[in-house]
Amino acid sequence: MSCLTYLSIGSNRGDRLGYLKYSVERLRLILKSLAFSRIYETDPVYYLEQPKFLNAVVSGYFSGTPYELLNKTQEIEDSTGRNRSTSISRGPRTLDIDIVLFGNKVIKSSLLTVPHPGLKERKFVLLPLLELNPVLKDPATNTKLWELLIKLENQGIYLYNTHGK
Ligand code: ADP
Ligand code: MG
Repeated sequence: MSCLTYLSIGSNRGDRLGYLKYSVERLRLILKSLAFSRIYETDPVYYLEQPKFLNAVVSGYFSGTPYELLNKTQEIEDSTGRNRSTSISRGPRTLDIDIVLFGNKVIKSSLLTVPHPGLKERKFVLLPLLELNPVLKDPATNTKLWELLIKLENQGIYLYNTHGK
């Protein structure tokens, strides 16, 4: 049994585009029927004194539990030299991979919250997510995600042009 999952990928340190491409190549090895959104450049939220992020969403079918997926995505993050013990929470990072949706599962544990708690308030997650699948709903509340998106204020998110990069 495999489950369709949506992952948010982001980078705001070093070769941002390179890290996103690297994560897609690594995710290709663990997800079937991989698809990915366009890339957006976004102003930082929460901790504002840091460089802009590049963000995108990747989807694919995963055979395993959500915790197994979390282990694998953290391993990919760690392989980019991201040091989670010393880095500022929500601060600059080479690569961040968050599990946004895992089928219709709703999970609330100390290790994992799915749907990802930031989903409803973050345009940089909702926009690329809806690009991949415009009819997605929040499995916890059954709310249509596009209805959440149109309620959000402008958050400084721009399509990133990768031509020639
Ligand atoms: P953030 O992405 O919130 O800035 P981190 O990437 O450092 O922070 O993640 C901190 C912890 O969040 C991880 O160790 C993980 O256990 C937990 N976590 C909870 N829910 C999720 C999720 N849906 N996807 C990824 N990590 C999650
Ligand atoms: Mg994270």
